[in-house]
Amino acid sequence: MVGVSAIDPLVAANIEFAKSFSGGLPGTPARKVAVVTCMDCRIDPVRALGVTVGDANVIRNAGGLVVEDTIRSLAISQRKLGTQAIMIIQHTRCGLSTFSDEEFRAELAAETGVTPPWGPRPFGAQEDNVRAALERIHASPFLPHTDDVRGFIFDVDTGLLNEVYASAS
Ligand SMILES: [Zn+2]
Repeated sequence: MVGVSAIDPLVAANIEFAKSFSGGLPGTPARKVAVVTCMDCRIDPVRALGVTVGDANVIRNAGGLVVEDTIRSLAISQRKLGTQAIMIIQHTRCGLSTFSDEEFRAELAAETGVTPPWGPRPFGAQEDNVRAALERIHASPFLPHTDDVRGFIFDVDTGLLNEVYASAS
């Protein structure tokens, strides 16, 4: 069947992109920073953070959550690629706040007959989500560098980062 692929224009754009691409950068991030953020299409970490290609590892998933696979990526980033700082960036008006993960799992199970292998992810008040992510990083035995770990909420309307501080305890 001949159809129109949404991907075709992207492949065509890549051919243009490659014409002025210089390449040759090492795979170790120059700024020694790993950024964990949401897959949301309104967040462009490169432009929003004043970094460029070669500067940072960017790990994205729905919500910018620190889940098992995020820890895996961060462990590789720190242990194999030399990063030492971690920035967690969640954001306002995140799609994950519009439905409960429990409901989504039940919906998938009912529709497909298969229960998703990933566990439920509590997603509550925004600042609490960021604090939970920071806590998971600090609790991980696999991350050697946890002195410079900070969490933020990116405002998709103003473009500003608002820092979330660990609760005083
Ligand atoms: Zn989001």
